[in-house]
Amino acid sequence: MKSSSISGLLASDFHLGSGIMRMNSSLICVPLVSKSVDEMLIGMVQAKDSGADVIELRIDYLESLRPRSDLEILLRDKPLPVLVTYRPKWEGGQYEGDEQKRLDALRLAMELGADYIDVELKVAHEFMSSISGNKPEKFKVIVSSHNYQSTPSAEEIGNLVATIQATGADIVKIATYAVDITDVARMFQVLVHCQSFQVPIIGLVMSERGAISRLLCPKFGGYLTFGSVSAGKESAPGQPTIKDLLDLYNLKNIGADTKVFGLIGKPVGHSKSPLLHNAAFRSVGFNAVYVPLLVDDLANFLKVYSAPDFAGFSCTMPHKETAVQCCDEVDPIAKSIGAVNTIIRRPSDGKLIGYNTDYIGAISAIEDGIRGSHNTGINATGSPLAGKLFVVIGAGGAGKALAFGAKAKGAKVVIANRTYDRARELADLVGGDAISLAELESFHPANGMILANTTSMGMHPNIDGTPISKQALSFYSVVFDAVYIPKVTRLLREAEESGVSTVSGVEMFIRQAMGQFELFTGMPAPEKHMREIVARYV
Ligand code: NAP
Repeated sequence: MKSSSISGLLASDFHLGSGIMRMNSSLICVPLVSKSVDEMLIGMVQAKDSGADVIELRIDYLESLRPRSDLEILLRDKPLPVLVTYRPKWEGGQYEGDEQKRLDALRLAMELGADYIDVELKVAHEFMSSISGNKPEKFKVIVSSHNYQSTPSAEEIGNLVATIQATGADIVKIATYAVDITDVARMFQVLVHCQSFQVPIIGLVMSERGAISRLLCPKFGGYLTFGSVSAGKESAPGQPTIKDLLDLYNLKNIGADTKVFGLIGKPVGHSKSPLLHNAAFRSVGFNAVYVPLLVDDLANFLKVYSAPDFAGFSCTMPHKETAVQCCDEVDPIAKSIGAVNTIIRRPSDGKLIGYNTDYIGAISAIEDGIRGSHNTGINATGSPLAGKLFVVIGAGGAGKALAFGAKAKGAKVVIANRTYDRARELADLVGGDAISLAELESFHPANGMILANTTSMGMHPNIDGTPISKQALSFYSVVFDAVYIPKVTRLLREAEESGVSTVSGVEMFIRQAMGQFELFTGMPAPEKHMREIVARYV
């Protein structure tokens, strides 16, 4: 492959998406960090079975390595192409011994049939001249540089690429550290630039904030990405498992044209949304991937990832309120609620449009719950919430969404909250009444009231919690709980025992996700499939 120098990289060179000449799809490499040769041999078979393309033998992790005999065993019947890495302590590895012995072992690996070896930039010149003329035909040297503190400017990374190329490297590897998710954009910029010069490069940004550098690697043309054989067997921070790369993120189908969606939040690691949205995209053949985005500064994130291919986002804590200010246009009810949970980049002009599918999901679920519970006497086009007394417990994000959503459907809204002042404030905003939690116990001004719990009481692990006594539940015709883990909370169980119809928070969760899917894709949500995924994982 022809290589050209890419020094002098400019910030304006960050072109994304189509129009770039593509190398083959990125490879998936499983690093093995076992302490014994036997364990490594087992890991090699597991790596092949799990769908890896390349195995990295991190021989610096082996206790008491005997280079010739151990490498002979490891390389003799290799099930996949093998990369041998013998990382010294001074570059973040485990090896502390004599430098010449280390480089001898790498030369030996080459002679014994390794497909790749990784050599650190600091020793690359010396190493490359020592193997000059002896390199097997298909054998490749990866020359690597690791920065465990930060990610330099794109120009500095570009210059580093040029320095690595000058050693005669077949493949450039640069690993940096993400202090902020926007650091990854500079690595993407370099990857795209390298692609246009046909420079094979592995460019990864470590830490959870850098995770998208690993998940979106094929979109930007990275030569390979690393996936551990199982959780806890990572060789670097932020590394996903190979199972997640293949099954969850569908890595082998990601290409330059793949649209990127994701969940913006802090934290995001616990979320089931990637499972749900990636499965939904796949089921309708939509060329997109949905990734977790650990974001500290929302406005800066949206400014840096402004390319059309970053097409839409879910937004969760603590960014839902800030998102209202960050969008160019906001749905009127989302604006009243003061929270946006979905952001779409409008394809026609690139403007960011904010929505709140939480209230749509919750209110439509409650409407269906009322319709199912009894004949409301309202014609099919009107909302069964019109004219009803709608009691919201809680005055936080979900409380606001339910209160404004019910109000928009013509309900009379009453807010009950632990902190009465917050109840009063929300009631004033929505044009309703406020009561205390104590008053809620005997609150019964009308028949057929609807109750919506939007506090976290009853949520796992505090499953014995409930915001209202069982006796008071008989005043209501329908009880909804925003809590969705567990699916049947104590509140819902006691409502059912009292003969009251119930609507689960799982229904809100599914419907808000279906709403997001429709905004993301412009297609109807694959409801059956999404319900199956939620039933399996949530
Ligand atoms: P939030 O903004 O922090 O608000 C929490 C509310 O709960 C506040 O009104 C708070 O009262 C009240 N609260 C918390 N602990 C309480 C306790 N021990 N006793 C009485 N009141 C208590 O949270 P949020 O974002 O609205 O989320 C609330 C719940 O809704 C969570 O369980 C969340 O998982 C769920 N949710 C579900 C979905 C879904 O799709 N099903 C979507 C969004 C949220 P104070 O004002 O007195 O602090």
